[in-house]
Parts: sequence; C-alpha cells; structure tokens
Amino acid sequence: MSYNKKSIEDIDVKGKKVIVRVDFNVPLDANKNITDDKRIVGALPTIKYLVSKGAKTILVSHLGRPKNGFEDKFSMKPTAVRLSELLGKSVIMASDVIGEDAKAKAAALKDGEVLMLENVRFHKEEEKNDPAFAKELSTLAEIYVNDAFGTAHRAHASTAGLADYLPAVCGYLIQKEIDIMGKALSNPARPFVAILGGAKVSDKIAVIENLIDKVDTLIIGGGMAYTFVKAQGYGVGTSICEADKVDLAKSLLEKAEKKGVKLLLPVDNKVGKEFNNDTESKTVASTEIPDDFMGLDIGPKSIELFSNVLKSAKTVVWNGPMGVFEFPNFAIGTKEVAKAVAESGAISIVGGGDSAAAVEQLGYADKITHISTGGGASLEFLEGKVLPGIDVLLDK
Ligand code: AMP
Repeated sequence: MSYNKKSIEDIDVKGKKVIVRVDFNVPLDANKNITDDKRIVGALPTIKYLVSKGAKTILVSHLGRPKNGFEDKFSMKPTAVRLSELLGKSVIMASDVIGEDAKAKAAALKDGEVLMLENVRFHKEEEKNDPAFAKELSTLAEIYVNDAFGTAHRAHASTAGLADYLPAVCGYLIQKEIDIMGKALSNPARPFVAILGGAKVSDKIAVIENLIDKVDTLIIGGGMAYTFVKAQGYGVGTSICEADKVDLAKSLLEKAEKKGVKLLLPVDNKVGKEFNNDTESKTVASTEIPDDFMGLDIGPKSIELFSNVLKSAKTVVWNGPMGVFEFPNFAIGTKEVAKAVAESGAISIVGGGDSAAAVEQLGYADKITHISTGGGASLEFLEGKVLPGIDVLLDK
C-alpha cells in the first residue's frame, strides 16, 4: 500500500461540492448530549480548510450501530449542533442520506457552507459497500475526502466505495496517520523500538510478526508477556497465559534471535494473589513467579530496563498497557512507560485506547508525536495490512 496519497491541499476545491467522510461516532448520554466531542474537534482542521477555500462541504458519518433504518437515538443532529458551535457558523442538517432532502440541500449549498447528512448506517448498503448506494451518494458531490481513520480498515460505501465515482483524497487526520505511521513502518529513524502490551498474545500476533521484520528492539509487557515467559520454560503461576500460544511464542523468540532483533520481556513483576487492586502483592523475578500468584504489572527493574532502551530510541511505537492499569496499585509500569516514551525525544506513536488514555491522563499528550485515533485501524496498520479507506485514495 502506498502511503503517498493526495490530500485536500492537492486538489482544487473552490466552489466544488466536497463530500467528507468524518468520524463523528461520539458518545451520547440518555438525553443525547455529547459526552466527549474529541472526534468532532479532531475533524475541524479539514472542515475549516474546506470552508476557507470556498468549498461546499457535505459531511457524512456513522454514529452507533443502527440496525433498522432511521432511529432518532442514532441521529447525527447533536453532532451538527456541536459542530456549529465549534465552527462558529451554522451547519445545515439533512433529514436523510441520499433522499430528497439531502439532494435538495446539497444542490442549494453556497460556497463555504456546510451540510451534515444523516447517519450513513441508516442504510444497510453502507456496510455492504453496495455500489449502487455509493454511486447514489456520490451524486451529491464532485470530490470525495476521507478523513475517518477509525473506519479506514473497513471497505464500506462511504469509507471506500465513493472513490469509484469521485476523485478521492485524504483530509488532515488521515494524512497525519499515513505520514507518521507510514514513515515509521517503511523508513524509520533508528533505533526503532516497539512496545506491545495488553492482555492477549492472540490479539497481537500479526502485529508482532510484522514488527519483528522492522524494529531493532521489541519490548513485550502486560499480560501477553506471560505466554512468552512460559515459552522460556518458567512457571507463570496463575498469570494470564495462553497455553495454545506458547509454541508460537517460542517460534517468535527464535525468529527475533535469528534476525538480530532484541526481544525484551519483563525481568521482574508485581504479582498479586487475586485479580483485584487490594490483593496481597509482592515483586518477584520473572523466573520466580510463585504458583499461587499472578503477574499484574511489570516490576521496577523492568521499568528501568525498558526506560533505558527508550532513551536511545529514535522511533517508538507503543500499543497496550504494561499491566492491569485499571487497578491503581498495578498501574505504575504503564505510567512509567508512558513517561519514558514521552521523554525519549524519539518520533513516538501511541495507539490503542488504553495507552492513548494513559499518555493523555498523565499530561504527556503534547510530547507524543502522534496519538493514533483509530483502535482497530491502527492495529491493522501495524499489522502491515492494506487499509481499504486509504488504499482507494489517489496517489501523489
Ligand atoms: P488490550 O485491549 O489488548 O490492549 O488489553 C488491555 C487490557 O489488558 C487491559 O484491560 C489490562 O487490564 C489488561 N492487562 C494488562 N496486563 C495484564 C495482566 N498482567 N493480567 C491481566 N490483564 C492484563
């Protein structure tokens, strides 16, 4: 997949009708108040650029998982209201997606005006990437902009299908993802260090396999580390461990060694008797986890080891917590790694909800080069997969 894609700045949008796939899938409370508007704020640079260039902007998004056509609780209306406030200009709301109202309002747009379509998933054809639906949607506009990274790993009508009918470019959010992640994966500044954590090896096998070919050092922490500790022949007590993945872990350890990639595991752990914050706990070496204890966080020596490696890194990719960070007593490893990533001075990319939340909560967000917004999409990116929503865009 080429990472060299045309963006909104590479195409003349003045006076043109531009349909933009945004990710306004925001959380709403029972009264349909938006409880977190980060995704709308994130789309502002692209929308403001189009408005400033005199484009007629038509926004399309999904929200939630509607099953049977129109349902008021999944209406995009609250997002249009919030966007109006953020833009300081009124956003026109259509009552449908490809119906009479959307068509009439799109046709009547003046330069610099913004129209929000209804929830694209009110049509089941969206997720099927139905060509007739994509074609009908495309008739509203002259240019297609994809700026929804969170759905870029899905080939839906509004995330990929539109590119069959309209010249397709990316907005600033997707551009940043491909510029930074794409460069890190294809031509990284070295040493390139990846840190993977989280509960399960099985969720991240493809990521490990792809990164092993690219990184200088691979650090594995969190629950998934115990399958590797087991593969090295040590007991892991009652730690989370995937018995059916031990052989795979063994072969990954061998592969890393053959390739000259340093694969680092925790050397010590904070272990607990039970899975709760206040359980009896102690710090033990990875070679000495007692039978009746479980690893719930990496220990101080591991923190020091991992932090030292991060200090000399030039590119860092981090995905997944180092322990059960939901329990404050077992959140130290994740917090210290967040700090080390932030202070590394490296090009740093943090993906995955938990690691992104950790750097944000700890106030390190502005020291991270890029916090990837799409959970599933950023994992697939790290797996080296082709993301349909990016693949369909015009090459530079
Ligand atoms: P993931 O979604 O794969 O990034 O995994 C995140 C989850 O992994 C979090 O909910 C953590 O609590 C969990 N996790 C991390 N370390 C451990 C561990 N040592 N034992 C059990 N769960 C863990």
